[in-house]
Amino acid sequence: MQETKNNNTSAEELKKAVWDVVKNIPDPEIPVITIEDLGILREVIINDKNEIEVIITPTYSGCPAMDLIGWNIKTELEQNGFKNFRITNVLSPAWTTDWMTETGKQKLKAYGIAPPNKKQIVCDTELFQQDEAVPCPHCDSYNTKLVSRFGSTPCKALYHCNNCNEPFDYFKCH
Ligand SMILES: [Zn+2]
Repeated sequence: MQETKNNNTSAEELKKAVWDVVKNIPDPEIPVITIEDLGILREVIINDKNEIEVIITPTYSGCPAMDLIGWNIKTELEQNGFKNFRITNVLSPAWTTDWMTETGKQKLKAYGIAPPNKKQIVCDTELFQQDEAVPCPHCDSYNTKLVSRFGSTPCKALYHCNNCNEPFDYFKCH
């Protein structure tokens, strides 16, 4: 019988152990970035019976990836011997690109996706009227042009860099 990690562990240790196991789960759509980098992984709660609750907040409601993330968390915890856990989707407050870590933004850029630009305060309609404000992840030029509001997924917009002539995805502000 498999030993469970819930026993003989303090709540604090259990919480850290769970966080360490799930934090490296990649985003299904952008595998270079983890659910911790994205800020999807919100909290790990241990109750007085040492039961585990993992709180996640979905990014874009249009992204079908959330079911997959829940499934991956479940699989990862089971494989690491955790029992008595549940995964809760918390929709409010809504996820925002502000929750993305600086490490996450660097990873996106290195992957060739322009990270959400903090300077964009109004992120929907207005963003697309000032699309030159999105710097190219390849050459950092601001001389870029919006090609399509939707890139490879609804979370991203497709841009073209006039400087290095490369297309790139922009992770839309949210
Ligand atoms: Zn460029």
